Formats: sequence, structure tokens, C-alpha cells
Amino acid sequence: MNAKKPTKLLQIALSVPMRRYFHYLPPKNEDWEGIQIGVRVRVPFGSRELVGIFMGFVTDSDFPVAKLKSVIAVVDDNSLISNDILELCLWASDYYHHPLGEVLVNSLPILLRQGKSLVTHQENYWHLTTAGQNVDLAHLVRAPRQIEALSYLRLHPEGLSANQLRLQGISKTITSALSEKEWIVERLVQEMPVGYKSSEEGVSLMLNAAQQVAVSAIQAASDSFHVFLLDGVTGSGKTEVYLQAISQVLKDQKQVLVLVPEIGLTPQTIQRFRERFSVSVIALHSSLSEKERLNAWRLAHSGEAKILIGTRSAIFSSLPHLGLIVVDEEHDLSFKQQDNFRYHARDLAIMRAHFKKIPIVLGSATPALETLYKAQQGKFTHLILPNRAGAAQLPQFSVLDIRNKQLEEGLSQSILEEIRQHLQRGEQVMLFLNRRGFAPVLMCHSCGWMAICKRCDMRMTYHKQTQRLHCHHCDSQARLFTQCEACGEKELQPVGMGTERLEHALQKNFPEYSIARIDRDSTQRKGSMEALLEAIQSGEHRILIGTQMLAKGHHFPNVTLVTIVDADGGFFSADFRALERMGQLLLQVAGRAGRVEKKGKVIIQTHHPDHPLLHQLFHGSYQQFATTILQERLVTALPPYSYFALFRAEAYQLQHATNFLQEVKKLFNPVSKELQLLGPLPAPMPRRAGRYRVQLLLQANQRPMLQSFLKGLLPEVEKIKMKQRVRWSLDVDPVEMF
Ligand code: ADP
Ligand code: ZN
Ligand code: ZN
Repeated sequence: MNAKKPTKLLQIALSVPMRRYFHYLPPKNEDWEGIQIGVRVRVPFGSRELVGIFMGFVTDSDFPVAKLKSVIAVVDDNSLISNDILELCLWASDYYHHPLGEVLVNSLPILLRQGKSLVTHQENYWHLTTAGQNVDLAHLVRAPRQIEALSYLRLHPEGLSANQLRLQGISKTITSALSEKEWIVERLVQEMPVGYKSSEEGVSLMLNAAQQVAVSAIQAASDSFHVFLLDGVTGSGKTEVYLQAISQVLKDQKQVLVLVPEIGLTPQTIQRFRERFSVSVIALHSSLSEKERLNAWRLAHSGEAKILIGTRSAIFSSLPHLGLIVVDEEHDLSFKQQDNFRYHARDLAIMRAHFKKIPIVLGSATPALETLYKAQQGKFTHLILPNRAGAAQLPQFSVLDIRNKQLEEGLSQSILEEIRQHLQRGEQVMLFLNRRGFAPVLMCHSCGWMAICKRCDMRMTYHKQTQRLHCHHCDSQARLFTQCEACGEKELQPVGMGTERLEHALQKNFPEYSIARIDRDSTQRKGSMEALLEAIQSGEHRILIGTQMLAKGHHFPNVTLVTIVDADGGFFSADFRALERMGQLLLQVAGRAGRVEKKGKVIIQTHHPDHPLLHQLFHGSYQQFATTILQERLVTALPPYSYFALFRAEAYQLQHATNFLQEVKKLFNPVSKELQLLGPLPAPMPRRAGRYRVQLLLQANQRPMLQSFLKGLLPEVEKIKMKQRVRWSLDVDPVEMF
């Protein structure tokens, strides 16, 4: 017998939780020799059929070749994964120790993951024709749905998809009728018709000196990897800097990626970009249908879309001519994915800019300490906008000592008086309280018993609107207790303040003014957040109450008073980042005040009026505040002065979770002095949704050492038998410790 000629095998990445490629024989009835890396293939996998990505040829397999199966079909002619995305995914898989197949496949929109064709599933956008713009709606009284559709389209000159119209109750029958009359047309892209934009808003503003320095620096870095930290107080005109830097990139025929936090992708944000540029601007937001996502992906992939704005996962968008990345509010927690593939989109954005050799701008009024530290080390260029732009001034801060003060539902008399004055002047006031529901505790007046979630061992929040108890940790609900479970007492008292209770208190004090409450409960329905924001902009609501949803990014020109109802939350947390978070949140909230000519006022209620950090935050600067905290981190060797990785395990029996992590810990033998292990210890929140939670913290002074340790470790962790009984994960650079 002759030695067998080695068979050409295909290496395929599959979205399965295994850290390896899979080998397949070539397809039987297809031409496959010219197949490109990044093309989708269909393969058999167990009893299923999966869509995977071709990653190259090999001649040998650790699996007996005779047992290998064949690829069923090659789906694409050309690669869907560009080099920079491939590099990014490889890097991310390595750095976060997540299976490459999952990273690669999940970088594509869902319809492509399912193997759908790139061309057939497309969604068009309805635009008004000139005739449609000019129809006199009064003549349509007998067709009220058509009036609605036309009015809605008039508000959206950039065009609306059938899905977007459907969400407004506008059906296909209506669009067909309008299209027959030639009042609307379908086009593939969403864009503003030329001449529609008001010329006033389309022009760039005259930059102030600090903005000019920033724009010039960013422009000078085009075509090279360069990280800028654009550190500007709220309202300092960071967005104007982005817009002018982007303008240059567009002139060079390149594309721009703008990452925003989850709650930052408001219609106003998108509008600001659409009004400035006459190119197609795509927004990847949560209410898109899968078809629309695919459409957006294709437009970006073909280079037709020039600006793509999106949240975290947009970092994986295919943008062949990418020339600039902007990460707005770079400190925001929502850039970190907190489950499954635990990546940080800001950090990936920096890597992507590195692979693509382009500049990246990280913008924030309250940069993350990690980011500030890199700027101090000279790794990032620090661009500072010290003042508010235009005529606006920074608000005036006052810290209100509420120790021993009589409070009316959490508010002091002097605050109520202040609110009254602002309202009487015709202005809007905003109250910030980062706790939804009516009261965080329901307590027995006679024995002190409290209502507890049986699945989490945590207190349940009393919600007046639903007349139920809600657990904010596992989302479970319970009927309201009518009596104490311990002593039978009938009088149960809500203790503490939530946004619902604040709303009640303000309603009682100011019955003549309308109140808008913005929290997760009041904005659950699709579109309700937008409706609330619009009603606030129009001045319909005069009092705004909100959790952190209200804190970020919004521009409310008529808000002149911001009250922080309870500034004490961050002082007592187990998480070493709590103070940093608190400072960022308080400054972001405060930044909503007085953003136009009227000077704003911020009042902070606290039991710790002399706390030096509060003082630095409000009477000094974020820089001072951050420097103090960085100093503490240096002394205690916490990030950014050391590097963390966190193993988490959850199980219905505490012992299972603990034993699993004990096994993991044993794999570290012998432990290097450079690497500290802490745990296994119960998580700061020891039980959630019925599962016990335990963690093992790894801390290292150097990142490469930590990384190489983990790399060798994971295949061994996979072999631990206990693994079946627990849910475990590894979080590299965790941003939350519970
Ligand atoms: P940030 O993003 O830093 O919070 P914005 O970019 O939203 O700030 O700017 C705040 C306000 O200042 C906006 O109304 C904007 O139009 C205005 N603005 C920005 N730059 C200038 C400028 N150079 N001259 C006048 N007004 C400006
Ligand atoms: Zn009791
Ligand atoms: Zn719970």
C-alpha cells in the first residue's frame, strides 16, 4: 500500500463553548478550493446543523480522519470578516479567555449567524416625496391613519422602516395606499433629503480655543494609531469636537464608528449627527428588527454608510474604511458586557484602532480612573476642555447637611422652598434618587422584621404602583404582606425613599405642576422613554424625578435646579470602585443643570457634609477627586496599579460552588509571589435567584504574567469534574465585584 496523500481539512470556528477549532472534510458537491477565510459554511455537529466560519486549511487532525464529516455547503462567495475584525476577535478571545468560535460568530448579526443570505433579507426605508411633503393634511380628514403616517414621516425626514412604522401602529395597507398616491417612496438607506436640513444647524460652530486645540490634535493624527482622552466638563462642547473631527474623516472618504452608552443612544443624539452631515448615518439601537440590523450591517460592510452609532456590541461592526473611533462617556459601565463573553467595548475599541492604525477619541466629563491613569502615564494624549462652551456656566454647588434636620418624605424644608422659587420663575427642576419603587424596606413596626426575597436573602422593595414587593436583584415579585411574618403585627411600615415616594411627596407639595418620573418602571414600554423626554423638552413637565437613567447625556436647557436627594450611597459599599462611581454619577447628574444661559444650581443632601471627597468633587474638580482616589489605590495596590481577574461560581448548594473554586485554586500550585489569590469567598451578594455565589480573586502586579497563568489554566479548569454542578465564569478586568 502507498502512503496516503494527506487530506486537505477545513478548520471551522463554531459558536460552541469549546476552546478549539473543528475539522471537516471538504464539501462533496461544491467547488471549494478558492474559499476565503471568513466565509460561512454549514456543517453537521452532533445531531444538529450549525453555521460556522472557515478559518483555513490543515492537513492533520487530532481526531481520526476517517471519522471526520464533510462540510455541507459553503454559504458565501466572499469573506464576511475583515482583517481588523479577525484580529480583534482573535485578540479578544485570547485576552478574555473566551472561545474564539463564539466571539467570531457572534460578531455577525443574528440572521447571518443563522446562515441567511446576505442579499435577500433587506429592509427598505419609506421617505416622503416632495408631493407627500406638501399634501394638505386637512383634505385627508376621512383617512386619519394616512394623516398619522404622513405626520410621522414629516417628523422623520431621514426615513422610517416598515418595522418602525408598525411600532407606531401604521400598517402595510396604509403605506401601500400612500405609495400608490406617490406620496412616499422606498429607498435602501436612511438619509436626509438634500435641502431638508435647516442650514443653521448644519454648519459647524466657531470653536473656542480649547476645542480648537483638541480638533487639530485629532486631525493631525489621522492614519495613525493614537488614543486621545477628551476630558471636558459637562456641556464643554465635546460633541462639537467629535463632529468637527469626523467632518475631516468623511472628507477623506472614510467611515466613523461612534460608541455610546446604552441610555445615550437617544433620538436627539442621532439627530445631531444626521443634521450635521449629508451622509448616511446608521444607528444600531435596541428597537431595530433583525432585518434592520442585517440591513445596517450590509450598508456598513459595503462602505455605503459613513457613520455608525451604536452601543457596546457595535464595536464588532464591519467597517472596511474605518478612519476614526469615538467612545462617548467612556467611563460608562454599560460598555462592559456583564455576562457570557465579558468584554469591555472601550478597551476593544482601543485595540481595534491599534490594528487599523487610526485615531480614537475617548470622551468624558468624568473619565474612568484606568483611563486617567493611562493619560497621566503619557500613553493617551490628554485633551482638556476646562469650561462650558458658549454662554453657559458651570452650576453653583451647595452641600446641605441633613443631620438632625426634619425631613418631609426625604426632603428638607429649604429644598422645598428652593424648588418653589425655580418653578415660580417658569423653570424646570430635577431631583435625582438612584432607587426606584416606593420604599426599599417594608418593616414591622413592633418587632423590626423586614420583608426578604427568599431567593436572594435581600430586602425587597415596596412598589406602590403594583402594590407588590419587588426584588431588584432577581426580578421576582411577591404579594404584599398584610401582617408581620414574625409576630403577626398588622402595621407594616415602608422605610426609606424610592422614586415613587418622592413623586408622591412632590405631588402633594406642588399639585399645580406636572411631574415626569424616569426610571426602569416608568419606561418599560417601548417608546415611552422617548415620549417622556419629548414632553420634558416641550415644557409639559416641570418637575423631573429620575434614577441614573436621567443622569447621563440628556440636554434639558430649562433645568436650573438639580437636587441630589441622597448623596450617601457610595460611602458604604463593599466594592472598591463605589466611590469612583458615586463621584461620576453625582457630577453627571449635576451636569444637567444650567446648560444654557441661565446659571444652574445643584443642591446635595447628605449626612456627611464634611467628607473631603464630596468637597473636592463639588468645590474642587473631578481631577482632584480622582487624584485622591488614585492615591488610595496606589497605597492599597488596587487597579489601575494592579490587575484583576475574577473566577465566579454559582450553585444551588454553597458547597458545590466553594469546592469547585477550591479545585481551581489548587491548579495554581506553586503560586508565584507576583500573583495573589483571594478566596474562595462568598460574593458581596452571597445568594441570588436561589443560587449561592462564591468567587476567587486573582491579583497580579503585571498583566502579562496574569495572562499567561490563565492561558495555561483554563484547559485544566475545563477538566474539573465538579464543573457540571456549577455555573462558572472568568471575568478579566472585572468592573463590578459582586
Ligand atoms: P458636552 O458633549 O461636552 O456635554 P455639548 O457638545 O453637548 O457638550 O455642548 C453643550 C452646548 O454647548 C451645546 O448646546 C452646544 O451647541 C454648545 N456649544 C458647543 N461648542 C460651542 C461653541 N464653540 N460655541 C458656542 N456653543 C457651543
Ligand atoms: Zn413583627
Ligand atoms: Zn431576589
